[in-house]
Amino acid sequence: MAVRGEFLYEGKAKKIYATEDPKVLWMYYKDDATAFDGAKKGIINNKGIMNNRVSNLLFRLLEENGVETHLIEPLDERNVLVKKLDMIPVEIVVRNKVAGSLAKRLGIEEGTDLKGTIIELYYKNDELGDPMINEYHAEVMGWATRNELKEMQEKALKINQVLVHFFDSIGIILVDYKLEFGRLDGRVILGDEISPDTCRLWDKESLEKLDKDRFRRNLGKEEEAYMEVVRRIEAKLG
Ligand code: ADP
Ligand code: UDP
Repeated sequence: MAVRGEFLYEGKAKKIYATEDPKVLWMYYKDDATAFDGAKKGIINNKGIMNNRVSNLLFRLLEENGVETHLIEPLDERNVLVKKLDMIPVEIVVRNKVAGSLAKRLGIEEGTDLKGTIIELYYKNDELGDPMINEYHAEVMGWATRNELKEMQEKALKINQVLVHFFDSIGIILVDYKLEFGRLDGRVILGDEISPDTCRLWDKESLEKLDKDRFRRNLGKEEEAYMEVVRRIEAKLG
């Protein structure tokens, strides 16, 4: 049984602790919700429990489909053991439909279909509000090598194939989402989380939003929406 060690870091959604094994981290999922680079703050009751469940089930699904992730072992409702990665400060956003910042930036209506998948890169830096970058920025600034960027994007496309298909099978459109990768023994591995906090998930029939946009846009019923995602995923994978 793992023992929770030294507190290392508190982020917007999780706390990270060491364990007795230097290669293993203990992640605790909080209920804190933030949006607009931390400008909007709140709580979604039981969010930590729901995101921990969703992310662990999706990471297991990805592992079964040949995508290596940091997941070692869920411990309980809010806690999970993960492989400690040297995180790459480049967030990968994958888009299957127009929404959010893409809709705003290019003046295209939310919900518009895309002819293919769009991958965007953002520099993970809260103070700067995660600015959009391209591969040249990432490579020249030393945030990731050309090879790492290629690997992250190839993995993102593979992850997208698996997840679009899976969400479709539970009546959900995977509109867009954010991925974080890290280095381990020369490999690039999927880290952080995939949850209603980091994805846009729309019900296929009603187009109802089942994700953090309910919080961002003051739509209410956040807990119910996250729970609906948990319920559908667990019915299939739980
Ligand atoms: P943020 O830092 O964006 O506010 P969180 O509250 O989710 O986000 O904190 C989790 C932190 O842990 C993030 O900085 C994330 O990059 C980092 N992280 C996620 N998975 C791993 C891992 N396997 N190894 C090391 N760090 C990780
Ligand atoms: N996203 C995220 N963390 C971030 C930025 C974006 O999880 O720091 C997710 C977000 O939930 C959405 C997708 O990435 O599913 C695309 O986000 P977008 O660029 O549209 O930004 P937003 O308008 O959501 O801030």
